[in-house]
Amino acid sequence: MIKFCKSENHYTMKEECHGLRTKTAHPPKFSIEDKYGKYRRMAKINKE
Ligand SMILES: [Zn+2]
Repeated sequence: MIKFCKSENHYTMKEECHGLRTKTAHPPKFSIEDKYGKYRRMAKINKE
């Protein structure tokens, strides 16, 4: 899992970096897939 260090704005694999806990980085790919999933669900609702 790729993490993001907000202290120095860089990606890392570590749980902690520069004395802060890192945040999980969500690659843009995931949000795009989620968007398509949303449209699929909407299309299904419109069909029914
Ligand atoms: Zn860092």
